[in-house]
Amino acid sequence: MKPFLTVRSLKEKIEKKEVSPEEVLSYYTERFNTYNEKIGAALEVFDEASVIESSKKEGALHGIPGLIKDNISQNDRGLTCASRILADFVSPYDATACSRLKNEGALLMGRANMDEFAMGSSTETSAFFKTKNPWDVSRVPGGSSGGSAAAVAAGLVPWALGSDTGGSVRQPAAFCGIVGFKPTYGLISRYGLVAYGSSLDQIGIFAHTAYDAAMICSAIAGHDVKDSTTLMVGKTDYTQKLDGTLPDDITIGVVENALHAEGMDSGVVQAIEEAIVQYEKLGIKVKRISMPSLDYAAAAYFILSRAEAASNLARFDGVRYGMRAADVDALKQLYAKTRHDGFGDEVKARIMVGNYVLSAGHADQFYDGAQKVQRLIRREFMKAFADVNLLIMPTHPAPAFKFGAYSDNKLQMDLQDYFTCAMNLAGNPAISIPCGMSKDGLPIGMQLVGPHLSENLLFQAAHAYQEKTNWHEEHPEGF
Ligand code: GLN
Repeated sequence: MKPFLTVRSLKEKIEKKEVSPEEVLSYYTERFNTYNEKIGAALEVFDEASVIESSKKEGALHGIPGLIKDNISQNDRGLTCASRILADFVSPYDATACSRLKNEGALLMGRANMDEFAMGSSTETSAFFKTKNPWDVSRVPGGSSGGSAAAVAAGLVPWALGSDTGGSVRQPAAFCGIVGFKPTYGLISRYGLVAYGSSLDQIGIFAHTAYDAAMICSAIAGHDVKDSTTLMVGKTDYTQKLDGTLPDDITIGVVENALHAEGMDSGVVQAIEEAIVQYEKLGIKVKRISMPSLDYAAAAYFILSRAEAASNLARFDGVRYGMRAADVDALKQLYAKTRHDGFGDEVKARIMVGNYVLSAGHADQFYDGAQKVQRLIRREFMKAFADVNLLIMPTHPAPAFKFGAYSDNKLQMDLQDYFTCAMNLAGNPAISIPCGMSKDGLPIGMQLVGPHLSENLLFQAAHAYQEKTNWHEEHPEGF
């Protein structure tokens, strides 16, 4: 066994009986034992026997280990959302994504660290410990799904699940030099995903290649009777069209006002311009376009995500889930003390902002205005896709930042979502792919965006690029 194997190559090895699922799992467990302390990617790695036992012994992902962000329920395992309030909570059931993966024989080997309740862009808000970027441990892995991204980037696991409400799969993927995919809103069931912003949340996938992400997506996508927001999409094999080619007559729109926005790191711009040349070489037409409403996406996202979070997190009251404050005399005191002791500062701040923007007298000023911007962005995407098949733009304005860089500048932290949250507001699928390295040796990502349910084309375009380039084969040293 070698580190950094893809899902695809592992599947081949297992099918040819070069290795057994048990051997594969032991190998990755050993890698966690050796390296997890260095980067803090996993909150828990399960014992091997219980992992093998909980999955089917056959299927499209038979014997292939993965890590699950700790806001996605795994039956009979802890589920903390990296929060003290759920520190001892055990999930009584599997999220649909997890049960489908187990049903395809995948081995769910542990729980990934994250920002508390998926609120953040650096994994610094985890109540337990910080996850470090494997490329440079003085830097953040991005967030909120930083544990999932760091684990894949360090080769501790070939794929992982995260969740993406405003960019939490794509931004950490870009910071860690791997692929991060967010599906169309409603493609992947959220049954068992702890809700943050319900009109925005989607489960997403980390892997080294678009091909691997397509393999995982094929296992989990499609309608689920347990999630009424899933679309009526049947089981699909998203790898079927991945032969390195693209359909004839494809045009990619380069979102100029994003790519050349003020404050963009010049290395990121250059890497993406080079990727555009690569697409031209693949025979794709390129059109430079502008999407002015993107400039308002982060502000609208800020308001809507907080409003939805305030309402979703009301359920953590010390009665039904997790922690319960002791030494209280009255019910109201129980609520207050549990939430005071259980939630971290970022979560509390967001609940307060959320309740404020929804409160009488302020809702029309904030919430209603943000919804108008959301409609504007949706229309602008529809208009763009009447003209081009896909969009290309940055995932992030600059490579991974240092720990604490934005502790005193929350605005900069919130601006991490600048290029990613519009797709959550509009429900469009998007994928971040590694496309270069900064002069400091940090990975750079670019983002491809498609119309609703264009996953096949999105994977095709990402795969075709990866067939011609080898940025995805660059790995951090020391793992
Ligand atoms: N950084 C964004 C936030 O803090 C994105 C979070 C996410 O996608 N879960 O809300």
